[in-house]
Amino acid sequence: MQEKYDFIVIGAGVVGCMIARWLSRYEGRVLVIEKQADVGMGTTAANTSIVHAGYDPVPGSLKARMNVKGNAMWDQLKAELNFAFVRSGDYVVAIGEEELPALDTLMVQGRKNGVPGMMIINGAEMRAREKNINPNVSGALWASTGGICDCFQVNVAAGESAAMNGVEFRFNTAFEDFIMEGDRIIGIKTNQGDFLSRWVVNAAGLYSDVVMHKAGVRPEFKIQPRKGEYFVFDRADIQIDNVLFPVPSDAGKGIMVTNTVHGNTIIGPNAQIIDDKEDTSTTIPGMDEIWEGSQKLIPSLDRRHVIATFAGLRAMGNGPCKTPGVNYNKDYIIEIPENVRGFVNLGGIESPGLASSPAIAEEVIDLLKDAGEDLREKKDWEPIRPARPRYRDMSHKDRQLLVEMDPQFGRVICRCENVTEGEILAEIHAPIPALTYDAIKRRTWLGTGRCQGGFDMPRVVAILSRELGVSPMEITKRGHSSEYLVRKTKDLEIADDN
Ligand SMILES: Cc1cc2nc3c(=O)[nH]c(=O)nc-3n(C[C@H](O)[C@H](O)[C@H](O)COP(=O)(O)OP(=O)(O)OC[C@H]3O[C@@H](n4cnc5c(N)ncnc54)[C@H](O)[C@@H]3O)c2cc1C
Repeated sequence: MQEKYDFIVIGAGVVGCMIARWLSRYEGRVLVIEKQADVGMGTTAANTSIVHAGYDPVPGSLKARMNVKGNAMWDQLKAELNFAFVRSGDYVVAIGEEELPALDTLMVQGRKNGVPGMMIINGAEMRAREKNINPNVSGALWASTGGICDCFQVNVAAGESAAMNGVEFRFNTAFEDFIMEGDRIIGIKTNQGDFLSRWVVNAAGLYSDVVMHKAGVRPEFKIQPRKGEYFVFDRADIQIDNVLFPVPSDAGKGIMVTNTVHGNTIIGPNAQIIDDKEDTSTTIPGMDEIWEGSQKLIPSLDRRHVIATFAGLRAMGNGPCKTPGVNYNKDYIIEIPENVRGFVNLGGIESPGLASSPAIAEEVIDLLKDAGEDLREKKDWEPIRPARPRYRDMSHKDRQLLVEMDPQFGRVICRCENVTEGEILAEIHAPIPALTYDAIKRRTWLGTGRCQGGFDMPRVVAILSRELGVSPMEITKRGHSSEYLVRKTKDLEIADDN
């Protein structure tokens, strides 16, 4: 018999998981399907993790409204979901007198968008606030509501909150088509069978165009991936104290230099339009481009201290569409289309999609209510997703107490980032279990230091194998077809002997 739901969300990125958390507040059965092995393996896994203030989007756009509203929701969200977020403020930095007018333009745009707490400071003040800044700085726009977070922690926390409140998750489950009854969607077909539902929400990120086309919605809309590449610096190297953007150009917000909640400096992203939605490779020309861009803001960066590179793909919409006033590459689609019933359609959720994600979730709830859906709040909804101990961030005394309570927290598995076995076990047995190396890495930050997993990886494979009761040969980096081990060494010897 086919399982029946009230709501199915396609995609477990930050947007899908935030929507699931918001839906979990109301009565009804909710399912999130995700084609990959874990939450947050799409665009949400690779971005700059800035909670943008909201001065960038075009005034009057849905993107501007979602950004400014979403930004204001982050303090409460952090308090309830317990993820890393610092409202540090951010700067758009003008180098040379000729860039100064761009700050005024952004300030005016920000005011139109309703961004509070902005101020233009002069070059001397900026030099005092960031000791490594290019000495030719002429001024900066300071937006006090900007912030930094760990995008993956946010995604996991939203997903776990939903799961704790009864939302079901099915991983390795790919949407293939809709089941229709006339113009009404009544379910979906997936590679793991069919599921019936009164509503389906499209939160498929880079593939949101494919999903909406299956429903016959906006056939002219196309996602054009826009790649952004990054360098990550060793924490022991330069300490940048701030979030620094250059003045923006037509290509986007530009190559920035920023601190992160984990203490590393990162630089990037560039903006390369590509065709392949799976191509997250980094390229030599791209690396050179972001290096050059970063030098404009912080000339003293030293390339020898780069410990990692990565790339993410923005889900940019294509150009102007048939609807007057809507430009797909400038705005989000968040709608209940008129020609199909039972469908909440999202598309083009590129930056600042992370910052906007709580507002997008609330928008989806509002659309459902406007469509006449009788959403009844659960009496026992639990807003808090409890924090788990992070050994690295604790005082010596707290560490001692924790180890006394549970000696597994005294066994350090990742020496660069000080991550213990106790933390790994907590993630493996969490509301959304971490079942691959990358799932544990992204939740605990192990393997992200100077040795890039060289020390911890075999230990994590052994722990996962023991806890899941499977052979180490079955443990993967990120799900299907990414096993670490191909055969036992002894088998190799026997094969050679023969
Ligand atoms: C370089 C870069 C920098 C950025 N910087 C920032 C920033 O600093 N601040 C900010 O606010 N935003 C930023 N963004 C944007 C932000 O990362 C995205 O807007 C956000 O992560 C989008 O989340 P999502 O859930 O819509 O998409 P995703 O995270 O991609 O999630 C979509 C999910 O759908 C799944 N899926 C797809 N097809 C199917 C299917 N057929 N069946 C089942 N599942 C499917 C995918 O596997 C994926 O997990 C940046 C983006 C990039 C690329």
